[in-house]
Amino acid sequence: MARAPQAAQNQRAIEDSEFAGLAHARSRADILAALHTTPEGLDAADASARLAATGPNRLPEPPRRSPLKRFLAQFNNVLIYVLIAAAVLKAILGDWIDAAVIGAVAVINSVVGYLQEGKAEQALDSIRAMLSVSARVRRDGRWVDVDAETLVPGDVVRIGSGDRIPADLRLLEVNNLQVEESALTGESVPAAKSVTHVDFDAGLGDRTSMVYSGTIVAAGTGVGVVTATGTATEIGRIQTLITEVETIDTPLTRKLAQFGRQLSVLILVMAAVMLVVGRWRYQFSIEELISAAIGFAVAAIPEGLPAVVTVTLALGVQQMARRRAITRKLPAVEALGSVTVICSDKTGTLTQNEMTVRNVVTTRHRYAVTGAGYAPDGDLELDGAPARLADHPDLTEVIVTMALCNDARLTETDGRWQVVGEPTEGALRALARKAGVDAPMARVAEIPFESAHKFMVTLDEAPDGARWLHVKGAPDRLLERSATQLRAGAAEPLDRDFWDGWVDTLSGQGLRVLAAARRPAGTGDEIALDDVDSGLEFLGVAGIVDPPRPEAVDAIANCHSAGIRVKMITGDHVGTARAIAREMGIVDRPDPPALTGADLQAMSQPRLREVVGEVDIYARTSPEHKLRIVSALQAEGNVVAMTGDGVNDAPALTRADIGVAMGIKGTEATKEAAGIVLADDNFATIEKAVEEGRRIYDNIRKSVLFLLPANGSQSLVILVAILFGFALPLQPVQILWVNLVTGVTLALALVFEDAEEGLMNRPPRPTDQPVVRLADVSMIALVSVLVAGAALALFFLGRSGGHPQAVAQTAAVNMLAMGQFAYLFNCRFLTSSSLRPAALRGNPWVWRTGAALLVLQLLFIYTPLMNSWFHSAPIGWESWAVALGFSVLIFLIVEVAKAVGRRLGY
Ligand code: ADP
Ligand code: MG
Repeated sequence: MARAPQAAQNQRAIEDSEFAGLAHARSRADILAALHTTPEGLDAADASARLAATGPNRLPEPPRRSPLKRFLAQFNNVLIYVLIAAAVLKAILGDWIDAAVIGAVAVINSVVGYLQEGKAEQALDSIRAMLSVSARVRRDGRWVDVDAETLVPGDVVRIGSGDRIPADLRLLEVNNLQVEESALTGESVPAAKSVTHVDFDAGLGDRTSMVYSGTIVAAGTGVGVVTATGTATEIGRIQTLITEVETIDTPLTRKLAQFGRQLSVLILVMAAVMLVVGRWRYQFSIEELISAAIGFAVAAIPEGLPAVVTVTLALGVQQMARRRAITRKLPAVEALGSVTVICSDKTGTLTQNEMTVRNVVTTRHRYAVTGAGYAPDGDLELDGAPARLADHPDLTEVIVTMALCNDARLTETDGRWQVVGEPTEGALRALARKAGVDAPMARVAEIPFESAHKFMVTLDEAPDGARWLHVKGAPDRLLERSATQLRAGAAEPLDRDFWDGWVDTLSGQGLRVLAAARRPAGTGDEIALDDVDSGLEFLGVAGIVDPPRPEAVDAIANCHSAGIRVKMITGDHVGTARAIAREMGIVDRPDPPALTGADLQAMSQPRLREVVGEVDIYARTSPEHKLRIVSALQAEGNVVAMTGDGVNDAPALTRADIGVAMGIKGTEATKEAAGIVLADDNFATIEKAVEEGRRIYDNIRKSVLFLLPANGSQSLVILVAILFGFALPLQPVQILWVNLVTGVTLALALVFEDAEEGLMNRPPRPTDQPVVRLADVSMIALVSVLVAGAALALFFLGRSGGHPQAVAQTAAVNMLAMGQFAYLFNCRFLTSSSLRPAALRGNPWVWRTGAALLVLQLLFIYTPLMNSWFHSAPIGWESWAVALGFSVLIFLIVEVAKAVGRRLGY
């Protein structure tokens, strides 16, 4: 820690001397010296001392709405307005207790809403925290991945396409580096970067020697030294980072909120009509009518609805995160429930991305390779006998080229071998280790692999000064560029048919095929794609296995039974894609239709729309093809989930209904475009997310179906009383009470409902299907009539038994609460009968909320304080017994109605 003050001094000196703003105009050596660092980066101790001095590399959180504001916002809804108006009216009429109770209920309602919203936001916050950004940095002379928040000035950082730049960097090395800087400059065309310093007075957009925190690498790679972190960065200084403060707002919540508003207006109109009728026909007193109108409005407004939806969504999102699918955009959760097509990458998502070379084919032989995983244990064999490299120079050249044109490293911890870098390259590195080849050449330049061109090139210098271009990549791409092939140390004309035959054979076995080629290089230190346009010498190919993920095979079968098509989109060879698709059960025909990138290129969009539904295999594609496939599928009415990992996949992910990014191998660019991030990159996780999406939607529907009849029955009781001209069976405060206890306790139980059986045997939900369907309306009406009828019956039973008004009213309230509890069991299963033991099990919240309801009811009925507040009175056991009997009856009648509905196919 002794170095901390020194580091702080450095940082301050840099800032004070206007140096930070001038890093673009200084040479690389100057910058490194000023930052007390070298191209080898810092050691870990120095870095942590600097971190203590400069603080973490992050920007301050955007200001949140204060708790008070959030609480006050709860008062902004129609129900509260009605309640406040009611309280004022009651106060004017001198009914102080009622006024106070109504006021208190308004406050309690807002507190509950506030707490629920807080819980929902907490759930989302914890998920946001799961998406931390990492950076590849040189520490103690090695490249390691660290949390980007721990970067300090002086760190040497490597960036590659798709990365979000983690801090302001002065570039030390670039390789075709292009950066999209619109976050900073507003310019959306990527800027090309270089290492040469620029003028002192260059504007931000012209500082090509710098890259800035928050911008995104569009292509290429680079290495730079950190000049500023956190608030000292350009983006921190201008404070324009628009962090989207995601609110709980989805198409569904908006639709329901709108529905609620329309309903409220209708209710207010009906209340007015009721007043008029009551006044002219039955000469009710004004006071009574006002009570009735308030009671009706309070009864009918479905105020619990938005909260239940919000809580269901938020808890569902948390549940999904536990199943390794991290939600970035809430609307994706809803869309998941209606997905009809999942387009998935092959490598790493459907397969394990655990690559091992199985075969190498040269002009002379097909060699076999033994061993599994990345451990360098295994042998090269020819016809079952060990093949010594000294006897097989053809084999040696292939292996050497694939080892030179390679950035992967293998590491061993506790006997487990792992790759740092690309798995494909790791497999080739392991092959070289098994063969024991050592290629002492120094890399001069490189063209990194990009999925658009599908090969990689390096310029290497041998100890004797000879320079070679080494190329490895997709065989078709290399064959196009080759003129000759290597045989017995000499070049002969390329035999294209020979190689095509081998590529078909290897890929037909599901192997990923990579080819190697080379040519002597010129004298320049730079290379461009043109340099490998033609004239390569083809050396041979390697066949690599990448076993399917077993759980993905099951997930595909589940998708199929759920009416969801799975489409594989890969950069790999069509033969490999076909073989893997068959093996994984994506297709069942022996010769399934497939489209390649070239086919797509030649095809018009209308033609693609015609065939896209039937073709499940897309091979040798480039990222832009994904966009066309999504568009074609959507034009055919599909709801599409699309996976992606590379920077160029972002447009397709944005276009898809649900963009799915890879948490491990995905780039920042795709994660930002995605609605969902897979923590484990696994296809099976998408299927689980779909299941979860369906469950969440079901539960929202259950809550809606449960809540609306509560409003229906309560308002019906009032309506009937006024229209037939008899005394009010419920006082406004009593309605408030039932509303509160059923809405707050019971409705929450359904949020925790498990998935119904058969959830993944149903076809996807049509997107245009409303939450409340026609059949649901009849169910809501039926339940409303049943419960209201039972409540009225209890009221009249009480009256005719000569009991006081308060007793009869209390009995009616009790009936409403119990009837609603009985109906809760009906709502647990939408697609099957609740008349079975399972209806009593599985969701403990049903019983917890039921017990809470009972306690509250006992307080309401039997405590003098509540009696005086709510005009309630103790009731006898007969009243309980009748209410219980009616409740069971309601449950049974609703089950019969459900069964009829199922028969009719609803
Ligand atoms: P996918 O991820 O869909 O399987 P990629 O875009 O990663 O496909 O790869 C497409 C093709 O590019 C592969 O079939 C292989 O031939 C080639 N390839 C993949 N990775 C590399 C690499 N690191 N270097 C050179 N060529 C590669
Ligand atoms: Mg890939």
